[in-house]
Amino acid sequence: MTTWHDKAAALQADGRAFIGGERVWAKSEQQFENLSPIDGRKLGMVARCDSADVDIAVAAARAAFEDRRWAGKSPAQRKRVLVKFADLMQKHGQELALLETLDMGKPIKYSQSVDVGGAANCIRWYGEAIDKIYDEIAPTAASSLALITREPVGVVAAIVPWNYPMLMASWKIAPALAAGNSVVLKPSEKSPLTALRLAEIALEAGIPPGVFNVLPGYGAEAGAALALHMDVDCIGFTGSTRVGKQIMQMAGQSNLKRAWTELGGKSANIVCADCPDLDAAVEAAIGSIFFNQGESCNAPSRLFVEASIKDHFLEKALAKVPDYQPGDPLDENTVMGAIVDATQLKTVMGYIEAGQAGGARLLAGGKQVRTETGGYYVEPTLFDQVDSSMTIAREEIFGPVLSVLSFGDVQDAVRQANATPYGLHAAVWTADLSKAIQTSRALRAGTVHVNQYDGDDITVPFGGYKQSGNGRDKSLHAFDKYTELKTTWIQIG
Ligand code: NAD
Repeated sequence: MTTWHDKAAALQADGRAFIGGERVWAKSEQQFENLSPIDGRKLGMVARCDSADVDIAVAAARAAFEDRRWAGKSPAQRKRVLVKFADLMQKHGQELALLETLDMGKPIKYSQSVDVGGAANCIRWYGEAIDKIYDEIAPTAASSLALITREPVGVVAAIVPWNYPMLMASWKIAPALAAGNSVVLKPSEKSPLTALRLAEIALEAGIPPGVFNVLPGYGAEAGAALALHMDVDCIGFTGSTRVGKQIMQMAGQSNLKRAWTELGGKSANIVCADCPDLDAAVEAAIGSIFFNQGESCNAPSRLFVEASIKDHFLEKALAKVPDYQPGDPLDENTVMGAIVDATQLKTVMGYIEAGQAGGARLLAGGKQVRTETGGYYVEPTLFDQVDSSMTIAREEIFGPVLSVLSFGDVQDAVRQANATPYGLHAAVWTADLSKAIQTSRALRAGTVHVNQYDGDDITVPFGGYKQSGNGRDKSLHAFDKYTELKTTWIQIG
């Protein structure tokens, strides 16, 4: 039987950019080395695109938009192509999953189900949606007709992070392409491979050349050139709050392009003493923070447990932690893989040191493991006796580190939960319906879970309050980001 290791050994990754329907190296001929976090193996060289390549890709996207080769197709025609795109992604699912795991370190079983499965579903869903949306006629006086129609914004730049490379790219490109835009996608320099392969698959599905371009490269080079470009109409950004602020500044400093940001989080998970199912709460608290090595924007990294049940809860939680020991990402049984690179490893280990130095009590984990592999692995780590002023309770760690805090009553929990610049997700566990609703109303977060943490569907919006960003990915609301509303007045006489 061919193993994932055999398949990995046979894989040839192509790191060239994708512009105007063709694979090309950067104009400057600059490249960067792409190493796998699972064992340090070299995956190949990647085009280091900069402003010269951005100019070429934006011009290709603009030309494709102006001649209407994609925007001019009927919604039903675009739907057929996008559904085929999704089918082809699934046909090439094993290859895409392998690229994702090798490039960013996540377990192969989740690359297949969550990343390939979720990304293909997203492309299909927006394809299916686009020929079911109607425009409007305003209720004006009978002497005229006012049409309110949606039009694509034009050239969309999508800049995405490395934690779910294909999925984050799909959340941008699916609604943008379905609406008829041309797209220039810049994947993270840490995980460029699946985005590049997606562009080839899109072409095979029938997306015309120039409509979907992919430029790998560094943020300060290719990313900034896109954000500053005078001929980009809209930027869809997912990444850190620090860079999100720069994106909005660059949009303002250039052509005031629409800038949509989906940023960091420090989500609070509040478990009240009247929680209806403590085992489910433990499972969700532990499973959700350690999923994807803790590299999830909505990870519930602050766990608030009501003081009266905290010891009991922690005993149960500690029993679950060993289930998440990191393992070989190419083994189908592994549930936690490698941290994306040496820089992120250093960041995570730095926060673990800060937790200890700040007086939190390390109850589990805290060490780097599997160093003999040449990859970057961190034990699932749990800190107790954390208070809201500590660095590990305030800053996004983006690693497998859970901070446990306690509270007296639910108002105290809400006050602490909201005391952060972020506002992405939150949860409350209680059997009291009024308390659940009052708490969810009081929590300043884009998504609030009640008695669960895994609610997730392409039909619901995903995005944050406060410094977690200003946009919403997923659901029909995402079309708002990639379309302009036009009013046309017609005199009837
Ligand atoms: P990052 O901000 O460092 O990078 C994100 C992207 O921006 C990358 O492609 C990067 O190359 C690019 N970039 C960096 N500097 C740039 C610049 N000056 N100009 C233009 N582009 C630039 O974030 P990351 O480390 O890749 O990702 C982790 C972050 O993403 C976390 O904060 C996480 O919470 C967040 N995230 C948010 C969501 C969400 O939906 N809210 C989803 C996933 C990840």
